[in-house]
Amino acid sequence: MTVYLHTQGCKVNQYESQAMREMLAENGYTVCEFSSTLPDIGKGIILINSCTVTGESDRKLRQFLRRCKRNHPHSILILTGCFSQAFPKEAERLEEVDIVLGNSQRKILPQILDSYFKNPQKIVCVKEHTKEYEHLSIHQFDERTRAFLKIQDGCDCFCSYCIIPFARGRNRFSTLEEIKTEVENLGRAGFKEIVLTGINLTAFGRGQGYDLADAVHVAASVSEIVRVRLGSLEPDDITPTLIEKLKGEPKLCPHFHLSLQSGCDETLKRMRRRYTSKEYKTVCQNLRDAFPGCALTTDVMVGFVGETEDEFNTSFQFVKSIGFSKIHVFPYSIRPGTKAAEEPIQLSNEVKNARARQMIAMGETCQKEFLESLIGNMETILTETTGKDGFTEGFTANYSPVKVKGIYPPNTLLPVIITDVKDLVCIGE
Ligand code: SF4
Repeated sequence: MTVYLHTQGCKVNQYESQAMREMLAENGYTVCEFSSTLPDIGKGIILINSCTVTGESDRKLRQFLRRCKRNHPHSILILTGCFSQAFPKEAERLEEVDIVLGNSQRKILPQILDSYFKNPQKIVCVKEHTKEYEHLSIHQFDERTRAFLKIQDGCDCFCSYCIIPFARGRNRFSTLEEIKTEVENLGRAGFKEIVLTGINLTAFGRGQGYDLADAVHVAASVSEIVRVRLGSLEPDDITPTLIEKLKGEPKLCPHFHLSLQSGCDETLKRMRRRYTSKEYKTVCQNLRDAFPGCALTTDVMVGFVGETEDEFNTSFQFVKSIGFSKIHVFPYSIRPGTKAAEEPIQLSNEVKNARARQMIAMGETCQKEFLESLIGNMETILTETTGKDGFTEGFTANYSPVKVKGIYPPNTLLPVIITDVKDLVCIGE
């Protein structure tokens, strides 16, 4: 029986999809990536690992389900992931879906399928998250050069706009031994770069006497691994002590994705973020002092409830002053069940999109300036893809995209000189 896998969302979802792929293969299923050009798959299975971080993710999910049922009317649709966990009632009402599985019990997926085949009635299995960390494992990371490794799940923060704590439960995480075993598996599989990821990665180890730096050292201790990269980080947990511990690791990629959301203190307060713009700037400076030439990237939300024109301009000027190497801009999306969704004054999409365009344009100018600052530098890239134009593309340790003339196999560490920047990509020789 073939399972066609479709994954929405973040690195954690990508990791969990890989784990489900391996689990299903161990149980005799053939697993392949879903493609919209697939001819009717008959009684095949489509497994959707969903995301619900924005209203747009929900819209895309519903559209995907309708298209699946139209093109593959006899297929079995399994909906798992954050949408099914955060909105189980809505998921149950989706006519196209045959099996609804929460994101806290992926391990029972093969059993759930067995019971469905015995009695093909709609199954809804969404359980409350517990304090227990559901440790999945991967040995491969199909079709990728960098392996995402989930080491933490859940979040205790409840930022006022965020649905994730409702979809992912409370903070919980792997042990350092589990991380070592998985990195060894991936090292044996030929991976040179590991990306440690989580829902609130910086909460890793909290209260257990170890922290994110210990996870980095454990991953770096595996000889085949050349680079350890970090997923998204919460600024309030990036303490001078943690930076000092991280500083000692030569394999750590000098690239820090430090989620900001807004550069205006009034807006940060309404978002229930746990730092001020001044404190955020200090963390950036501490990282730059410890890792000269490092790349700082971030997430910025625009059009949050009550964000005035002045507040937006304050945020805009603050973001510009940091000089990020890349900015991900998100127009605020109302998530049912969150504090901010109850707020009466919601901004129009016109205002949100206009502010997003402004922030994106400024972000691209900063990105270009950062990439141009690398011209003349000797960098090592990890090759990923070879384009039709006879160039090979890859990323530097500080996550700058580089194109090099010539055909080089993926997963090759290639020393280059940066000679130019075109279309927000470095050109290397
Ligand atoms: S830190 Fe805030 S934004 Fe991030 S997952 Fe937790 S609640 Fe959501």
